[in-house]
Amino acid sequence: MLRRRSALASLLVLGGGAPSAWATNAADGSALLQRVRERALQDTRAWEIVTALTTEVGARVAGSPNDAKAVQWALAQAQALGLANVRAEPVPLRVWQRGPAQARITAPHAHPLVITALGNSVGTGSTGIEAEIAYYADFTALKADTSDKALGRIVFIDQKTERSRDGRGYGQAVVARVAGAVEAARRGAVAVAIRSIGTDRDRIAHTGAMRYDPQVRQIPALAVSTPDADLIARLAVRGVVKMHVALQAQSDVVATSANVIAELQGSDVADEIVLLGAHLDSWDVGQGALDDGAGVAIVLAAAHHIAALAVKPRRTIRVVLFANEENGFDGANAYAERYAHQTHQFVSESDFGAGRIWRLRTRLRADALPAVDELAAALAPLGIERPATGANEGSPGPDAGVLMRRHKWPAIELTQDGTNYFDVHHTDNDTLDKIDPATLPQNVAAWATSAWWAANTPQRFGPL
Ligand SMILES: [Zn+2]
Repeated sequence: MLRRRSALASLLVLGGGAPSAWATNAADGSALLQRVRERALQDTRAWEIVTALTTEVGARVAGSPNDAKAVQWALAQAQALGLANVRAEPVPLRVWQRGPAQARITAPHAHPLVITALGNSVGTGSTGIEAEIAYYADFTALKADTSDKALGRIVFIDQKTERSRDGRGYGQAVVARVAGAVEAARRGAVAVAIRSIGTDRDRIAHTGAMRYDPQVRQIPALAVSTPDADLIARLAVRGVVKMHVALQAQSDVVATSANVIAELQGSDVADEIVLLGAHLDSWDVGQGALDDGAGVAIVLAAAHHIAALAVKPRRTIRVVLFANEENGFDGANAYAERYAHQTHQFVSESDFGAGRIWRLRTRLRADALPAVDELAAALAPLGIERPATGANEGSPGPDAGVLMRRHKWPAIELTQDGTNYFDVHHTDNDTLDKIDPATLPQNVAAWATSAWWAANTPQRFGPL
């Protein structure tokens, strides 16, 4: 059946038509923005994409055969979604490889522990290490200790992670994982064990990266499950607790990965980039569904959605699936080198699971802020607020954050609800079933709307 179309509607016809100019008056611009949002909200493709990634590839630790498979998968996926200039840009790596790891309480009675080695940890040697535990209630208590309590012992840091919608609990706790080994070794410890950085009550351990200081002896580092951490805490108040740890690992293994890049070529300002990021790698446990399969799916689906419009964006929209976010930010650093010369309208990243987006924050040049009202109005029907305070103190995600800090590129943050994210983060439980398919279209709509707006507004956002 024939029906009449408005000029606006004709811009939105799928495929085929010649690229038209961006609406020249504000009313058409914001009407188009609403249409982009409403159409993306009907799109269930993100669920299909994350299902494919977790099923056809699975866990994909950087530099592994599965990571190489993920790169090939992403190239094919981006092509199939109608994106242009699809390419893999090699990223050289020196990776850490996990070996077998076990730990148990040996006194006051035998008890096997559920543990995981932390990323970058050295091994214990084949016979392992047995020592008394030196208990610390949190990282601050360890830092404050000037006694010889830790000397010759296995330091246990009982740092708890508070559940929070915006991830601040993780932000406060994660230092125990990253810097615990250095502070323990400074006090003469032979190993460090931490309560898993996570919010679940499951008997499952959370991995994640830790770091050494070249000036400080390297000691093995591991995380124990929450119920096991509870037990250690209860035993520690009753008297001497001994632990045996045996873990193996290899560091500095030469490997390679790639950033996968796909674009929607811009029209009259094609050399300016709107960057939608996610990271392709995951830890070697679980399926990397929430971290960060969901983000990969959300930004690919958002870009696909804009590719399907009959009108081109003015600026180039570039999807970047970063290599090795989890253990080194090698992909972000390689991108920062390669594209240092290019103007970036904004950088951003979806890397906080699959919960609904509830907040818009930015990090733009001050004179660009009035222009954000248009985006805020377009996102409000999705239940996304622009906060009264801190609205321009956004943090755009881990890889995009590297780019923002390094090049003073502007950024936006679409904050997801992360209330349950740290229940499964970096564990065997990060599997597809933890994603609610119903929350993904709202994410895709917010990303498509934001990308389209940033690509077409006359306002330039940076440099900061
Ligand atoms: Zn992540």
